[in-house]
Amino acid sequence: MKFGGTSVGDVAAFERVLHIVSSQMKKKPVVVVSAMTGVTDALLGSFDKAKKDEYYTALAELEPLFERHVQVAKHFIPAGATISFDTELQFAREELCDLLMRATRRSLPLAMLKDAIVSYGEQLSSRLLTEVLKAKGIKARHVDARRLIVTDDEFGAAHPIVDETNEIVRLELEAIIGAGEIPVMGGFIAGNRAGETTTLGRGGSDYSAALIASAIDADELQIWTDVTGVMTCDPRICSEARTIPVLSYEEAAELAYFGAKVLHPKTIMPAVDNAIAVRVCNTFKPDETGTMVLSRSGKAPNTIKSIAHKKNITILRITSARMLGAYGFMSAVFQVFDRHRTVIDVISTSEVSVALTLDNSDSLEKIVEDLSRIGEVEVETGYAVICVVGEGLRASTGLAAKIFSTISDVNVALVSHGASSVNLTFVIKEDAVQDVIRKLHTEFFPIAK
Ligand code: ADP
Ligand code: ASP
Ligand code: MG
Repeated sequence: MKFGGTSVGDVAAFERVLHIVSSQMKKKPVVVVSAMTGVTDALLGSFDKAKKDEYYTALAELEPLFERHVQVAKHFIPAGATISFDTELQFAREELCDLLMRATRRSLPLAMLKDAIVSYGEQLSSRLLTEVLKAKGIKARHVDARRLIVTDDEFGAAHPIVDETNEIVRLELEAIIGAGEIPVMGGFIAGNRAGETTTLGRGGSDYSAALIASAIDADELQIWTDVTGVMTCDPRICSEARTIPVLSYEEAAELAYFGAKVLHPKTIMPAVDNAIAVRVCNTFKPDETGTMVLSRSGKAPNTIKSIAHKKNITILRITSARMLGAYGFMSAVFQVFDRHRTVIDVISTSEVSVALTLDNSDSLEKIVEDLSRIGEVEVETGYAVICVVGEGLRASTGLAAKIFSTISDVNVALVSHGASSVNLTFVIKEDAVQDVIRKLHTEFFPIAK
C-alpha cells in the first residue's frame, strides 16, 4: 500500500491512512509512504538557499515543516510515548544543519548532498506513520528504505539494481511479515552500494512501492492518492474528468509517461514484469473502486480512454541536406542525446529533417552545439505534449480525423502516431492545453443525458 503526500498531509489525513491500513490487516500489507505534502519542495528550497550562501534562512525555513510532524505526533501518540519520534526529529534537525552547512561550503558533491537533504521528507513521514500506527495498537515496524533499495550512483534519478534489491527486500521484509508485523518505509529514497542516500526522481514513491511489490511477489499493489484512480484527463484541467475502471499496463504506461502524474512513469514496469495487479484508489473516498491496471483491459466504447498532457516541452528541429538518401544521420542525432543522457519524447522525421521533443532541457545548450555539427538546428520552447490513449487506437478508422477536427482551430506542431497501438501524440503551444483538453474531453466523453 503506497500513500502519496496528500494522503499524509495532516492529522485528518493520518486518521484516514490509519483506517485504511487497519481495514486490510488480513492481507499482510507493506506500507510505503511519501513525504508529507509540500515537504519535498520545502527541502529542495532549503537546499537551494544553502547553496546560495543563505544558510540561516535555509535552516529557519525547515522549522514549520518539523512543526507539522510534531502536530501529528502530538495528536496520535500519548504524551510521554513520543520519545522515539522526538529523538528522530532531533536527529533529523542536527543532520540537516550539518548537510545544509556542507551545501553552503560545498564540502561534498552537491548532487549527493541534495539527495541526502531531500530524503528527510520520507525518512520523517515513515517514522511518524510507524509511531502513529503503533500508538493505535497496530504492530508496525519501521524499515529504512535506503538499506532496502539498492541503486546506482545517479543522484536525483537513481536506477535500482533489481537483483540486489530483491534479495535484501525479501530477506528483511519476509522476516518482519512472518513475525506478524507491518513493515513501514519511505518511498522515493534509496541507497547506492557505498551506502550513500540516493533518490528515484520526483514522484518516485510509486516506483519504490512497485519494486517492493515485485520483490515480495505481492498479490496487489495499491496506490492511494487524492483522486479516485486514473481519470479520463487531469481533473485539475477539466472538472468533468471521470474514473477509468480498467486500464491495460500499456495504456497506463503511456499515460504515466506522458504526464498523468497520478502514476510515476516507471511504476508500472516492475508490476508488469511480475503480473501484479495495480489498483489506484482515493484516500479521501476509500470506498470508491478506483482504477485497476491489468495486463489487458479491452477496448473502451469509443476507443479513447484518457487524455494526458505534459507541459514545458522544447522542440528541436534538425535539418540537413546531407540526409537526402543518406544513412547514419539518425544514428548521429541519437548519439548526441545519448552522450548528454537526455530522453527524447516524441519524434517525427521527413526526408531531410527530424523534429523531436524534450522535457528535460538541462543540457540543451550542449545538445544544440553538438547537433549543429550535423545540421541546422532550430529550438522552440513553450510547448506541451498531448497524448490520447486507448487500446486499439491505431486500428480505428477515422479516429485521428475526429481528434484533429475537434481542435481544428489549434496549430499542431508535431504528430506521432502508429508507433504504439494505444496512443496518438501531438504537440501544441502550452497556452492552448486547457482549451484543447476540454474540447477533446467534451467530444469523446460526453456527459450522459
Ligand atoms: P500523490 O502525492 O498521491 O503521489 P500526485 O500529486 O503525484 O499524488 O498525483 C495525483 C494527481 O495527479 C491528481 O491530484 C491529479 O491532479 C493528477 N493527475 C494528472 N493526470 C491525471 C489523470 N489522468 N487521472 C488522475 N489524476 C491525474
Ligand atoms: N516526495 C517525493 C516527491 O515529492 C516522492 C513522491 O512523492 O513520490 O517527488
Ligand atoms: Mg505521485
